[in-house]
Amino acid sequence: MTRRLYFEDAFLRAFASSVTARREDAAGAWLGLEATAFYPEGGGQPWDTGTLSGPGGACRVTEVRLDGDGVIWHRAEAAPGARLPETGEAVEGRIDWERRFDHMQQHTGEHILANCVHRLAGGFIHGLHIGSEVSSIDVTLPGGETRLPEETLDEIEALANRRLAEDGDVVCRIPKPGELAALPLRKDPTVKESVRVCAVGDYEMVACGGTHLRSAAQVGLIKILSAQPARGKMRVFFLCGLRAARYFQACHRSLSRVGAMLNAGVEQAPERLAALQAQMGEARRGLAALRGRLAEALAPGLTETAGPLPDGGLLVSHRLDGEESDLMEHLAQALIARPGIVALLTAPSADGEACLFARSQNRGEDMRELLKQAGARGGGRPDWARGVASAADLDAAAAAVLSGGG
Ligand SMILES: [Zn+2]
Repeated sequence: MTRRLYFEDAFLRAFASSVTARREDAAGAWLGLEATAFYPEGGGQPWDTGTLSGPGGACRVTEVRLDGDGVIWHRAEAAPGARLPETGEAVEGRIDWERRFDHMQQHTGEHILANCVHRLAGGFIHGLHIGSEVSSIDVTLPGGETRLPEETLDEIEALANRRLAEDGDVVCRIPKPGELAALPLRKDPTVKESVRVCAVGDYEMVACGGTHLRSAAQVGLIKILSAQPARGKMRVFFLCGLRAARYFQACHRSLSRVGAMLNAGVEQAPERLAALQAQMGEARRGLAALRGRLAEALAPGLTETAGPLPDGGLLVSHRLDGEESDLMEHLAQALIARPGIVALLTAPSADGEACLFARSQNRGEDMRELLKQAGARGGGRPDWARGVASAADLDAAAAAVLSGGG
């Protein structure tokens, strides 16, 4: 059984120990230690990483696991030129402090956030997950609800941050036999023996086997990012500590840029953007109207140069240049507004040659068939079809109309 130094002092970064066992599996070599400050994965908190140095040199600890017998195993990789320590050899361990401190900020912050969710929304919290970027908890809400109003989430976040500002000691201990039942735990422990209790100030207490900060204020900041339904519960995504501060910095920088682009302060940016969107919508509608009028003005010129069809109709076959390509739809509509017209239009597009084939309502040709004749992929209705070709063969499509095919 490995002595868990992280329970005795969660701020212990370096320690002396010895190797008590060694084994290998597909993942690599694992070292069991007499005592360790390396936290193994557990309770949603990822394992620590770091180094172990022995008489044979240094090795990197990349994964840490606790087995059923209470032995903590360290997956170790020897540095170039070094060898892994043997059973019985002394080692010096050093954990990657940035990673551990970050995990402790997320973990301790979660205790306080969970307390506020429980207090303000009656939620029962389970399933903490500390991700490499974002952490989450799952919450069972009263009445099977899976959402909370934005205002409630804001209140929860505000209370959680107030708890941090007001500070409060974080105290973890194993209660004396018989004492546990009387403690005001937020939820029942999931383990039966050696239950470790973690309290924050005088308002929060829960059973927990993780590593924690010394006080609430060390969490610094709690930010709820979102809350959404997940498998009948509400999943809350959040950031704590320096992660939250970095997020705030990045958000503020982006929003400041948006504000500068809109010639407005950060607070006015959404309002300005909404106004800009309304203006764009208006401009788009105006542009469409103008294109329609332009197409109506161009259509008579195209019908004058159109070829006659055997039944007295007209065949308009026309390739628009790049600048006119936005007009294609309007032009087709303007052309087929009068009876007897078959319009074969193409224009250059990013994917190749865009084709729009349309006909007046009083005609019977199938435009989808004509698309095929022109070598285009696409579809639509019998009187209106569009597609794309690598090089549209308008002559072949025109010939199909003239021969009564299509
Ligand atoms: Zn905890």
